[in-house]
Amino acid sequence: MSEARYDVVIVGGGHAGAAAAIALRQEKFGGSIAIIGAEPELPYERPPLSKEYLAGDKSFERILIRPVAFWEERDVTMLLGTRVETVDAAALTVLTDDGQMIGYGALIWATGGEPRRLTCDGNHLDGLHSVRTRADVDRLLAELPDTRDVVIVGGGYIGLEAAAALTKFGKSVTLVEALDRVLARVAGEPLSRFYEAEHRAHGVRVLLGAAVHCVEGDKRVSGVRLASGELLHADMVIVGIGIVPSIAPLAKAGAKTGSGVEVDGGCRTTLPQVYAIGDCAAHANRFADGATIRLESVQNANDQASVVARAIVGREAAYEAVPWFWSNQYDLKLQTVGLSSGFDQAVVRGNPEERSFSVIYLRKGRVIAIDAVNAVRDYVQGRALVLAGTRVPIEALADKTRPLKELAAAELAATQPA
Ligand code: FAD
Repeated sequence: MSEARYDVVIVGGGHAGAAAAIALRQEKFGGSIAIIGAEPELPYERPPLSKEYLAGDKSFERILIRPVAFWEERDVTMLLGTRVETVDAAALTVLTDDGQMIGYGALIWATGGEPRRLTCDGNHLDGLHSVRTRADVDRLLAELPDTRDVVIVGGGYIGLEAAAALTKFGKSVTLVEALDRVLARVAGEPLSRFYEAEHRAHGVRVLLGAAVHCVEGDKRVSGVRLASGELLHADMVIVGIGIVPSIAPLAKAGAKTGSGVEVDGGCRTTLPQVYAIGDCAAHANRFADGATIRLESVQNANDQASVVARAIVGREAAYEAVPWFWSNQYDLKLQTVGLSSGFDQAVVRGNPEERSFSVIYLRKGRVIAIDAVNAVRDYVQGRALVLAGTRVPIEALADKTRPLKELAAAELAATQPA
């Protein structure tokens, strides 16, 4: 059995893993770094997989997080196409699927998650796809020429973005959502209704409150049977119903886990010298009222990576970054700042019919999040309101003639001592 040791071993070559290596070198960390990644590719951006890469507007080279030369220059060893199967937290080693035992000084667990699969009959048929990796999307694209009818299961961001990209190819798309509105987990009703109408206007059949009973077909999928009995013809089915964090080896090693690997404000797990970041890390987030949550976003991956890099070089930092996110569908750019879960009031600012508006969320009178659709100014200026949890009367928020930066400044002035 071969054996090597690195001062920092990063498991997972996705957004968070790549960002951690980049941040360590930015922090002038001079020790050895290895990234062990299950996928064969160098780290690449995942958001374009359901947007420009799926639509054929960006090549794979253009979505690499850094070019090949960068990793060589920064002396980051890439062990790709390699999966960590076991962690020995006492011996400070990991064991890979190809039999390498690798020692670490610090271990950064950045493994993201696996797409959640359908559990019903027919879930194994050919023609069922997820959109998580480059390989997933290449497989899907290879089948597109022979595909006319696509059923997308799941009305979250990935399902909606895939619907937008596939209608561009002239495919007939039906989107099936089990809840009574799309984006129900992440946004308020005005935003959901706006996106449902947009997709319908682009020819997508949007079915709400529709549960999948089974997937039908012989070897290959031929349709999706709903609980209502309706059969939707399908040449292809795309499943976008969330992810299951990839944390089994760490859990087995004794790390405390819940909805993900539990970490403290410095992204430390309960195992010595082991950190976790990105989609798999469950952390107490001040923008979620202190609740322990996982965030699945590039912002979270990057900001947690910086926190870990600082912790490793001995410059303590706590993870307190304001969450932000984006989604592109058709010619609509959604930008989100803050977390709307737990809101008790939602104010629409502007007119959705003009396709440029924002939804501002409040909890106990304080601004907690903004969803801005084709409204960059609200997104940029509203950030300060979310950061400070500003109290603003809802009439003022709804008044589009009053810039959000003016409201933030007015509040600040009101709270300053005279
Ligand atoms: P990942 O990027 O998933 O990387 C984890 C890596 O670890 C993977 O390569 C995996 O194969 C590897 N791995 C897993 N287990 C092991 C193991 N045992 N050993 C070795 N390697 C392992 N976020 C936004 O902010 N905006 C967007 O518009 C947006 N759009 C998205 C669209 C799509 C289609 C997807 C899939 C995600 C999107 N996201 C978006 C979310 C964002 O991409 C993720 O939050 C981000 O990639 C998380 O980074 P990560 O490093 O935690 O996980």
